[in-house]
Amino acid sequence: MISDNSDIQKKIIDGRLIAKNIESSISEKVIKLKKNGIVPSIAVILVGDNPASEVYVRNKDIAAKRCGILSKKDIYPASLTEKELLNKIDELNNDPLIHGILVQLPLPPHIDEKKIMEAINPSKDVDGFHPLNVGKIFTENAAFYPCTPYGILKMLDFYDISVKGKNCVVIGQSNIVGKPLSIMLMNRHATVSSLNIFTKDVKSIASKADVLISATGKAHLIDEEYIKDGAVVIDVGISNINGKLCGDVNFEKVVNKVSKITPVPGGVGPLTVAVLMENTVKSASMKS
Ligand code: NAD
Repeated sequence: MISDNSDIQKKIIDGRLIAKNIESSISEKVIKLKKNGIVPSIAVILVGDNPASEVYVRNKDIAAKRCGILSKKDIYPASLTEKELLNKIDELNNDPLIHGILVQLPLPPHIDEKKIMEAINPSKDVDGFHPLNVGKIFTENAAFYPCTPYGILKMLDFYDISVKGKNCVVIGQSNIVGKPLSIMLMNRHATVSSLNIFTKDVKSIASKADVLISATGKAHLIDEEYIKDGAVVIDVGISNINGKLCGDVNFEKVVNKVSKITPVPGGVGPLTVAVLMENTVKSASMKS
């Protein structure tokens, strides 16, 4: 039996609401910075014409404007060389009016993403992907934490969900989501299992999770058999099926078993963008 609509509503982790709260506190900080003559600004670089990346860049631009942050979009054709991109980053690194630099991934195959991430000045690395900031996740003193994992922690905080001593299962081991998130959960004293495509019996490990986070990009991979009764489920995945966005989790099948769950869309996505804005304002504040 499916729970009635009000029961479902109570279980939903409302990413849009949390993002709105974060954005309103950012907007206040932006007003103060502007009074001191500092206009927080972010440069977003997009290379090529990946339609999903274009949407992400547009969303970031709109969010920046909502918060009063100056957003500079640099859009280049896929033919841009690695050297040319490195030169652009160098210019932005040396521009005192730019506080955050984001290079939208993925990049065309002829450009080495690692080299590009390393070229961004760590003090302007608002995406949190520079190896220095990544390494400092271990010691919990990164200038900036990667936006999606940090956004997920903010979601847990918003609903007072402690992970201390809990069994947290993270499915997916990407550098931008799964790996940093696993460390950040460990920093909060969670017992973390980090799973990948080669993990044997993902279902049985997942079904023991108090907090299950899925970041695979495999639409509807997770059904009720992956879920422990009362689990908190965070769905990072974004897939497009026949023009409709959906996550890794089959929401209808699991909703009766969970205590809390993120929808797709309207879950993790808005938090990723809000944290990017927060990081940009933090960077601008450090210059004040
Ligand atoms: P990725 O595509 O780089 O890697 C996927 C990971 O999932 C790999 O570690 C792989 O081994 C693992 N995996 C794939 N299938 C699996 C399976 N069946 N069982 C266990 N593990 C499996 O990952 P990514 O860049 O982190 O992206 C993952 C998803 O999250 C994508 O859908 C992406 O669009 C989405 N995403 C969303 C946001 C957001 O803000 N909502 C941010 C980043 C990524």
